[in-house]
Amino acid sequence: MKKTLLLSILVLLPGVTLAQEQTDLTRYNTSVSFALESNELKVLTELTIPVSALTNNKAQLFLNKSFDIDDIAGESLKEYSVSPSKKVPPWNEVTLSFESVSKVHEVTVSYRGEIDEAAGHGNFIASKGIHLSIDSAWHPFYKNFATPMQGELEVILPQKWKVYGPGSVSMQNNAHQMSVTKDRIDVSFYASPNGNEYTDGNFTVVYDKANKDRAKRLATAGNNCLAALNGKFGQTEELESASLVILERAGPSFARGSYLSVSSQGGRSKQQSYHYICHELAHNWTSLGNAMSHDYWMMESFAEYVAAEEVKLNFGTEAYEKVLAAWKSRAKKQSFVWRADIEQRASSKVNYGLGPLKLKQLKAQIGEEKFARLLHWYMTEQVTETEQLLKHLKELTSDEDALWFRLLLEGRKTDSA
Ligand SMILES: [Zn+2]
Repeated sequence: MKKTLLLSILVLLPGVTLAQEQTDLTRYNTSVSFALESNELKVLTELTIPVSALTNNKAQLFLNKSFDIDDIAGESLKEYSVSPSKKVPPWNEVTLSFESVSKVHEVTVSYRGEIDEAAGHGNFIASKGIHLSIDSAWHPFYKNFATPMQGELEVILPQKWKVYGPGSVSMQNNAHQMSVTKDRIDVSFYASPNGNEYTDGNFTVVYDKANKDRAKRLATAGNNCLAALNGKFGQTEELESASLVILERAGPSFARGSYLSVSSQGGRSKQQSYHYICHELAHNWTSLGNAMSHDYWMMESFAEYVAAEEVKLNFGTEAYEKVLAAWKSRAKKQSFVWRADIEQRASSKVNYGLGPLKLKQLKAQIGEEKFARLLHWYMTEQVTETEQLLKHLKELTSDEDALWFRLLLEGRKTDSA
């Protein structure tokens, strides 16, 4: 009786979620401190690992190979092993084996080590700042690059530093606390001792000396695109703000939700930057299913499609034609986007080339109005499987159109439509 009452109060209270109850999600509660003069970090992380994240009662994680592991412990932990990864040589594979009785396993891992900036992956710990991403495997994450995590990260640094990442950051107990409430496959952040940032509306660009001149332009581009996408898709889930960190660094550019980290290399044009930012922001609305499956194309191809539409609106048809040309050149020799009986994730040539081209063809087939409805549905509902998309297309149009698109994705239709 009491329980029922409590539950109904919780349900009635706005904004109260029962997220803590969720037992199928990996959570981390991590604290990291640094020795800036020696490029070192020291980490204590408490991982909550659900059975759904295990294979044969084992969790397989990556961690930087040069780190010294002080301790790995957990009540239901049977044993663990650490061995060099064959797939990614600078990383170790940490395999945790559990007793099969529990539904959720709690493990603490403590380790320390040095981040070598010269390794060329764009990660560093220094007095100029701290940039840590998946490329250094500074924090444990799943070996399949797909199992999501959420959690709390405590970054122990002087108060005058600022921390940026894919979550909200606040000061708690004299430390910077980042709270990540969306699924991510890794833990990443940037910390700056001087807080060089430029904000336009809801978009903040954080920059180093080398990128000072680009900050304003990028912030304006980011804010414009953020406003445009919120206008189109933000009715149910608004992206309130986002930040982009631009640094003179090695390593790839990447995005984690509202946190974008790009290197200054590449010299993107105004239009390319806008396209890139819009693509990454669009991912706020593209649901991630299994990142290694044949359904992954939807996420990337829809984000590409949405970004290209923004380019067209802002820079005109000529700029849009350039995007189309890039899609076409990527799509060369790619024979299909998706097939029900092939389970692997498609190549980037498909995801960023052939896929968006097929969406464009679909629009020509069913007309702008119906396509706009399909796009809006995809961007605002939890759509993670191609079969879902085909089913909704059928409801929106006809059996014939849905079959036509299925064959188009399968590469069993000529491109003349
Ligand atoms: Zn993407």
